[in-house]
Amino acid sequence: MKVVVVVGGVGGARFLLGVKAALGLPAVGEGDSPHEITALVNTGDDVWLHGLRICPDLDTCMYTLGGGVDDERGWGHADETWTVKGELEAYGADPTWFALGDKDIATHLIRSRMLRAGYPLSAVTEALCDRWRPGVRLLPMSDDRVETHVVVDDPDQPDQRKALHFQEWWVRYHAKLPAHSIVPVGAEEAEPAPGVTAAIAEADAVLFAPSNPVVSVGSVLSVPGVREALRGTSAGVVGVSPIIGGRPVRGMADACLAAIGVETSAEAVGRHYGSRQTSEDGLLDGWLVHQGESVDVPGVAVRAVPLVMSDVAATTRMVRAALDLAGVDGD
Ligand code: GDP
Ligand code: CA
Repeated sequence: MKVVVVVGGVGGARFLLGVKAALGLPAVGEGDSPHEITALVNTGDDVWLHGLRICPDLDTCMYTLGGGVDDERGWGHADETWTVKGELEAYGADPTWFALGDKDIATHLIRSRMLRAGYPLSAVTEALCDRWRPGVRLLPMSDDRVETHVVVDDPDQPDQRKALHFQEWWVRYHAKLPAHSIVPVGAEEAEPAPGVTAAIAEADAVLFAPSNPVVSVGSVLSVPGVREALRGTSAGVVGVSPIIGGRPVRGMADACLAAIGVETSAEAVGRHYGSRQTSEDGLLDGWLVHQGESVDVPGVAVRAVPLVMSDVAATTRMVRAALDLAGVDGD
């Protein structure tokens, strides 16, 4: 069986642990399986800092699935140290609001060196995964530079607007500056990375992880050709709600949804993705919401099951329900 999963960072990576387990793979690391999992990973968060290319969502997936993640934070290396960060601060080197751990920096050094030598991000990611062996094919959504920017009132000149890189809005300002719009800069000219549209076309099931609908899943969908591939695949396409009880389970997805005029509810996000059957640009055949919620998305089969990823076992049950809704059997 071939399963494609659209993912962002922490929510996406945790969901992938359950996808692996549902298909009989060890949640962490590699294993023997006739099944093939491909993750289409958001790269809209990517940013150059201190001359290094940082790919937060790719790295979160790689470290989580490869067994190297800091479990408490959900991102970055376990047993990380912060010597370089302290030295950069001593130099007053901007930006100081983004933390790069010492071990993490090795990943960014190798990636940046390979990118400068002309390798595409997809090839760089494959090379990094040679070490981490995530057991899932991690494909960046695009090898082209697509960076999410957020238009806000300029904090220094409130009568003017300013576009901030997503990371600055999210990490420095904690998404507290109200967003007028969220724009995937570069998306129009971008192409899907090699393998992305083919994976969707050949899939038996396509799942949207409960990742941020705007700046994770939405960024992947902004790459020309991805929506068309999703509408054209013979696989069932099923999404999982990141919103439970009208709130994001973690993080500030509500601030992103407000910026695109979508209410923070499982129903509104399901309708935002839309029906593949009954609407012209919709993407879903099925939509999973949290148990007890009664949600109507016209043209989409909605099912309610527990959606809290408290541990791998709970996530695995959730993935099985998603695969079932997509018309295939886990295991
Ligand atoms: P990021 O790139 O690290 O922000 O991670 P993602 O975009 O992949 O995932 C963030 C989203 O995951 C948030 O909007 C959360 O609401 C959602 N999320 C986190 N934990 C859970 C969970 O246990 N259940 C569900 N349904 N959603 C979750
Ligand atoms: Ca992210």
